[in-house]
Amino acid sequence: MPRTFFVGGNWKCNGTRESIAKICEEFGKGESTAEAPVEVVIGVPFIYADLTREKLRKDWSIAVQNCWVGKGGAFTGEVSADMIKDAGINWVILGHSERRHLPELKESDETVAVKVAYALANGLKVMACIGELLEEREAGKTQEVNERQLKAIAAKLKEDDWKNVVIAYEPVWAIGTGKVASPEQAQEVHEQVRAWVASNVSPSVAADVRILYGGSVTAKNCVEIGGKPDVDGFLVGGASLKPEFLDIVAAYKSK
Ligand code: PEP
Repeated sequence: MPRTFFVGGNWKCNGTRESIAKICEEFGKGESTAEAPVEVVIGVPFIYADLTREKLRKDWSIAVQNCWVGKGGAFTGEVSADMIKDAGINWVILGHSERRHLPELKESDETVAVKVAYALANGLKVMACIGELLEEREAGKTQEVNERQLKAIAAKLKEDDWKNVVIAYEPVWAIGTGKVASPEQAQEVHEQVRAWVASNVSPSVAADVRILYGGSVTAKNCVEIGGKPDVDGFLVGGASLKPEFLDIVAAYKSK
């Protein structure tokens, strides 16, 4: 079965009630994707999840951008996977490079993996992000870093869990920098990631799992990157806050 194209948005810590209502109205002007071979999921700040659901077109879904490592309880400021599910939200973005690398957050591979496993066990679907820093790429460590991050996650999952995971490969040097990976660079890494999954999870999971590219995706570069055989869609930050996101979603037509 062909892999359904997937376009994720990541609004990060951006938006107001007013700007969200406005962008949702813009998104509503695009053609329906309800019957199209593309899945669209927007990662919103927790506080605006209900508002976005109310305003967003109904053929697209909502994700949140984090969850706690386990069951709820005395964890001030945290939101558990159970709560997210209870609120009717089905997706969560985990392991984003900002959460892995910001000095205030510094989530380890192990923390990300625990969150992914708990979210999946509690009925959420996960966009699991991986990717190397610029200095790691320059030191020839791209594959090593991606495999280390994936290995931590895979160690906690059962084969069946993978049907609810999409992997987002996001080179950190390309996130929010305007410096996009070339289609060849993206394809090279996606192919390596799929091969790793084939050898370390199973060939059938590798054939089915969607691997998204993230990092300065725009309407201008999406068709070329999305056309590569192992690129199954995108995770889009900055451009997911703009009407241009509709053109990125439409890249599924060129696949
Ligand atoms: C992201 O935040 O996941 C991302 C890819 O950001 P941008 O598209 O702005 O580079």
